[in-house]
Formats: sequence, structure tokens, C-alpha cells
Amino acid sequence: MLAKTRLIPALMLLSPLPAYAADEPTTPAGREALDILKEAVAVPTVIGRGQVPVLAEKLRARLITGGFAADDVRFVPVGETGYLTARYPGRDRKAKPLVVIGHMDVVEANPADWERDPFTPIIEGGYIFGRGTNDMKGDLAMIVAAAIDLRRKGWVPAHDVVLAFSGDEETAMATTKAMAQALSGAGLVLNGDAGGGELDKDGKAYVYSIQAGEKTYADYTLTLTDPGGHSSRPGATNSIAAMGTALAKVWANRFAPQVSPLTKAYLEGTAPRAPADLAGAMRAFAANPGDAAAVETLSASPAYVGVIRTTCVPTQITGGHAPNALPQRVTANVNCRIFPGTSRQDIEAQLRKIIADPQITIAFRDNGTLESRESPLDKRVLAAVTKAVRARVPGLAIVPSMSAGATDSMHFRALGIPSYGVSATFMDPDDDFSHGLNERLPLATIDPGVAQWEALLQAMAK
Ligand SMILES: [Zn+2]
Repeated sequence: MLAKTRLIPALMLLSPLPAYAADEPTTPAGREALDILKEAVAVPTVIGRGQVPVLAEKLRARLITGGFAADDVRFVPVGETGYLTARYPGRDRKAKPLVVIGHMDVVEANPADWERDPFTPIIEGGYIFGRGTNDMKGDLAMIVAAAIDLRRKGWVPAHDVVLAFSGDEETAMATTKAMAQALSGAGLVLNGDAGGGELDKDGKAYVYSIQAGEKTYADYTLTLTDPGGHSSRPGATNSIAAMGTALAKVWANRFAPQVSPLTKAYLEGTAPRAPADLAGAMRAFAANPGDAAAVETLSASPAYVGVIRTTCVPTQITGGHAPNALPQRVTANVNCRIFPGTSRQDIEAQLRKIIADPQITIAFRDNGTLESRESPLDKRVLAAVTKAVRARVPGLAIVPSMSAGATDSMHFRALGIPSYGVSATFMDPDDDFSHGLNERLPLATIDPGVAQWEALLQAMAK
């Protein structure tokens, strides 16, 4: 890598052309997307640092320079953060707008743990490194660059297109909630923070997924109290042992398998690329969710068990107050990912039955996430996404998917607005370090990514 870097100045002397790093975008809109991304990575929009308004102002300036009316680009503060909206006026101002969402905030990153500074954009080996490059300042930059490019080309959408970027997606989602309410008249939402293309080890795309639903997130606190006493004088009950029994039952329980139009399409679409045993189980389950052998095979796979049912697992436990005392209090957390369409209340009632210990109280712990139904597999959306993606990779498999939750789409789906995750990022899943160390984005995804966003917006608002 070092030798390659040192060669660049020599090449610059030999050639009058600009010396772009390998795979850097070459189109004007792609170059602008990379500039926006670099600018965005350098603003540490981590919770508690108050930097979201700083990034929003930079994006606002870009949009206005790119042709948006100043009045149409608004930042709405929410505590130390806030959300940004930019309205692209259409021919019919009264029709329901198409809303394109993303988020400006990122997960915390400790520079001491990173090989490169997380808040300095660094281009190396065909990637741009930095916190948020993948989740999701890359798509954010591509969306902004695409909108500006479309304006410069003079494109006028059939109806308004609103870009809307939240400022605390990774934490409380208070900005998302406020933004969804402000845009509750939206006809449809496209989210740059889910879905996307997957590349194999040779950099060849093999599938594109459209996220059309996500599981409902839920935590339940289990509590058991006991009079306790001296550990030398054990009685009939022990709260730690009783909680252990309860949690073992939760762990052993399997909720009934479920299938929806979305998961059916996902399993059928994934089977052609799955290993033979899983592929057979996917097809069999999609055809008949009562197929016990298929359920068994899919349940044994951590990658697919969550696709066919609600899952609940114990994740935390605390209890006891002294090594020589009978425990007076034990609490545990059970984390559930609930199949869309099933309520959190229903799962709470099922947990009560499974545990079957009236001494243990079960309380739902509200963290602000919502129950939301999956979005319908809208033919118009599927056709538009397929066209935009296949212009980039002819014939690529397009598969609707459900994620484990939770994205900003949840707040729009909860309001009854269909929402689709359609990221224009194509990458090898093994390169996905979002939320982790050394997060990166392949530079090669930027030029075609901007083109994909432009094609998709044009198809959805023509
Ligand atoms: Zn994200």
C-alpha cells in the first residue's frame, strides 16, 4: 500500500490528468458525492457531541448551492440534535410527496481502537475509511449528490420529492418520530439505510435486497423477589434457582413458525444461492410452513431462524446481594425479535404461559421502538428498483427482505406509510464494519450508486 501511495506524485508529474485513487468516482455527481461524504465523516455526529446541526448546515449549504430554494431546506432542532428536510418541488404540488430518508448521526467510535482516525476520511486501497462511511453517510452523500445533479439537469418530478435526514437514528429516534409526524402526508418512503447489493470475493454482485419490513424489537424485565435469609438455612424456595428455571424454559421455547408475503418472497429468492440443504428447506417452508423437516433445518441456522418465527432469548441477569445470603431479588432481561403483525402484548402473554411461575413479574421495557407491519410488495416499487439496479448490474437477482430491526422506516410504517430500504451501496458482507472498527465504503460503489438513486427517483416520480 505504501509503495502505491508513493507512486502517485510521480504519476502526477507525468500526466496532466487529475490523479484519482483507484476506483474513485469520475463523474461530476460522483465526485460531489465523495466530497460530501468526506465532509460528513469529518463531523463527528455521535450522540452527546451536538454535531448534527453542524453537518445539517453543511448539507443545507450544498443543497442551496445545488439549486434548492433556501426556504425549501429546513433544519428542525430536537434537543442537541435535529432533522433536515429538503423539498424538491414537483409538477403537482398537491400530490402526496415521495420521501427519501436517511440519518446524519453515527455510532460512537473510540480513536484509540481504530487503525485510522474514525473522524478523518481516509482513502486507501479502493475504500474510504471512517465512522459512518457505510452506516450511512455514504448513501446520504449519494442521495444529496443525485438530487443536486437531477436539479442541474432540469428534471422536474411529477410530485414533490422530500429528502429527510434524521439526527438520532442510532439512539432514541426522537428526530425520526418528529420527522415522520411532520411528513405523515407522504405517499411512500425510500430509505437509504437498508437493503443494498452484495458482492462476492471477486467484487461481482450476486444479489440486491429491498428491505420491506423489520421485526419488532422488545425487551422484557423479569423480576423475582424472596424474603431471603441466612444461606445456612435454605427454605423451600430460592429466587436465583427459580429464575434459572424460568429462563431455561424461555430458551427452550420455540414460537410457532410464521410466513408472510415478504418472508415467502425472501426465502424463494434466496434459495437459488443457498447451500443445497438450506435451499431445499427454504423452498419447502415457503410452499408449506407446516413442513416439520424444513422448520427443523431453518431453525438450526442462526441466519434463518429469525426469518421463520419470533425469537426470545435471555440476555442479562442480576441477583443476590451477598455470598452468604439467600437471594432477595433477581432480575433478568429477555430480548425478543417479534414477527411483524404479532403484538408485543401477545408475546408478553405467551412468555407468562411459558414461564408458568406466578411469582415472577414480567414488564415490557419501552425503549421507543414501535410495532410496525411490513410494507406490501408494491409492483411499481419493485419494477422501479429492478430497473434502476439492473441498469447497473444487468440481470441481478432482486430479493425483498425483512431485517431484524430497527431502522427509521419503522416510524413511517407505523403511520401506515409504505417504506422500502433501497441503499445504493454494493459491498462484500465481510467488508461491512458498520457500528464496528475500521468502517469503510468501497469507492467503486459511488458513481453507479449516484446513478442508481437518480434512476430510481426518476422512475418513482415521472
Ligand atoms: Zn443506519
